[in-house]
Amino acid sequence: MTRPPLNRHLAEFGTTIFAEMSQLAARTGAINLGQGFPDTDGPEEIREAAVRALRDGRGNQYPPGTGVPELRAAIADHQRDRYGIDLDPDTEVLVTAGATEAIAASLLALVAPGDEVIALEPYYDSYAACIAMAGGTRVPVTLRPHDGAYGLDLDELRAAVTDRTRLILLNTPHNPTGTVLTRAELTAVAELAIERDLLVVTDEVYEHLVFDDAEHLPIASLPGMRERTVTIGSAGKTFSFTGWKVGWITASPELTSAVRSAKQFLTYVSSGPFQYAIAEALRLPAAYYDTLRAEHAAKRDLLSEGLAQAGFAVYKPAGTYFVTTDIRPLGAEDGFAFCRSLPERAGVVAIPNAVFYDHREAGAPFVRFAFCKKTEVLEEAVSRLKHLS
Ligand SMILES: *Cc1c(COP(=O)(O)O)cnc(C)c1O
Repeated sequence: MTRPPLNRHLAEFGTTIFAEMSQLAARTGAINLGQGFPDTDGPEEIREAAVRALRDGRGNQYPPGTGVPELRAAIADHQRDRYGIDLDPDTEVLVTAGATEAIAASLLALVAPGDEVIALEPYYDSYAACIAMAGGTRVPVTLRPHDGAYGLDLDELRAAVTDRTRLILLNTPHNPTGTVLTRAELTAVAELAIERDLLVVTDEVYEHLVFDDAEHLPIASLPGMRERTVTIGSAGKTFSFTGWKVGWITASPELTSAVRSAKQFLTYVSSGPFQYAIAEALRLPAAYYDTLRAEHAAKRDLLSEGLAQAGFAVYKPAGTYFVTTDIRPLGAEDGFAFCRSLPERAGVVAIPNAVFYDHREAGAPFVRFAFCKKTEVLEEAVSRLKHLS
């Protein structure tokens, strides 16, 4: 008799594609442009700030459940100075173990069994797992490529709302497509949320990685959205310390306290000394953010041009660490098969976008490359990919 898997309600999630592809990279010596982490650490002075906190005995024991006051104040100031959103750091800011815990705690707190959650497909892999852990039903709304960029079909979004819809899970700037939702798109989402009395959970971990004339707009700053939005941020991508796992939510006191009710039983608290360091990081001068953007825009251009020369159709991202490509001009259709053979063929690892879809066929010919790597690494990847066509 075969027994159902022990994790039967999560069995569909298996091991992540990132583990498989990173193993493939290690085995073949391929350049890993699969997983999105920087290969250079963040600012020296912020690392020193973490060392100082450790040595001074700040954060070595359980920090306060909502996060250390210095960090909560810095997060509130950041939201006010950047976006004009005024927050009470004591009741409207909650520090989490990265955005990952912020996503989990938000969904566990706000989604009850049977609730429907609308998520933009392709979506970050933890969304589907957390919706399942909360007992919710995910309802994907597919972002579709059009004129060289991915966009949100507002009619499709509208049609996806039912009487059971509890919340819309947004991600902007969007991983993996690199789309930055526009003011018009966000205004339409806000109007729908208000009309149908929905909550919005918005993952904005790439808020500082927007390029050219793209602008990041938090939906919480739109009229009527403060009371119904949980905004998720993280230090990992902004400061190139993905291992420190310092993230946060900002929301109304009622929503913050709801999310905290789940968070307290996940990690309770985390990253004590790193919280003090990130409080300093958030107060870095504008030049830090300008340089971060300029450097990543240059890396994006380097990799995008190389991929185009190698024969891919490239969706030039307006934000994030990633560029999505279409492999059909190279005579391929199946992103999984393509990514499994790419290390042998060209010495590069990428991720098939289909893993981010419920409608796998909608994502089949798309492949994602990360450009948050050293320039020389990207140059080597580009020169290897030239031999593809
Ligand atoms: C990297 C990433 C996260 C996870 O952030 P952590 O702070 O490392 O937990 C969440 N959402 C998206 C879209 C990401 O790309």
